[in-house]
Amino acid sequence: MIEPPSLEELIAEFSSLPGIGNKTARRLAYHILSRPREQTVRFSESILKAVERVKPCSRCFVFTEGDICSVCNMRKEAKTICVVEKSSDILPFEKSGVFQGLYFVLGGVLSPLDGVGPETLHIPFLIERVKKEGFQELILALGSSPEAESTALLIDRLLEGTSIKRSRLARGIPMGSDLEFVDEITMLRAFEGRVLF
Ligand SMILES: [Zn+2]
Repeated sequence: MIEPPSLEELIAEFSSLPGIGNKTARRLAYHILSRPREQTVRFSESILKAVERVKPCSRCFVFTEGDICSVCNMRKEAKTICVVEKSSDILPFEKSGVFQGLYFVLGGVLSPLDGVGPETLHIPFLIERVKKEGFQELILALGSSPEAESTALLIDRLLEGTSIKRSRLARGIPMGSDLEFVDEITMLRAFEGRVLF
């Protein structure tokens, strides 16, 4: 390639993002360098600002700028907790308004081969919270990959013997890593059709 090293580096950074192939990465990098400098500086500053300010909520791990997120703050009395894989997975729930409870972000699903065990996923913290706080229902919204399935089963097993109702979203809808893109109607159906373990 005849591209200067710093441009090559920028292309490599873009292609490390999910859903961005080499071609798109190159297009974005060239585009960034063709725009007015000021626009690009603003863009890079907003990345830095988000990285510095946004962090996981200390109770549920949803992204927030404070110590505790707005959902945890507003729904202190909620009796239902919904377990998701990543912070953006709560968006379809919030957009559809189908759920008025609390969330808990696991930060992934079990993947022993990649060294992702229960400790990495805040599972012990979840179990402790659920046992202490007297929730009535725990909804698992983790998707349908084999890893997600075994994660859901483990959580269910760890809560055996407690009185909390355990349910999961209806199957047959695109989930897992795509949960954040589920439209409102699909989310409503999956939620209303949730099944008990
Ligand atoms: Zn929170």
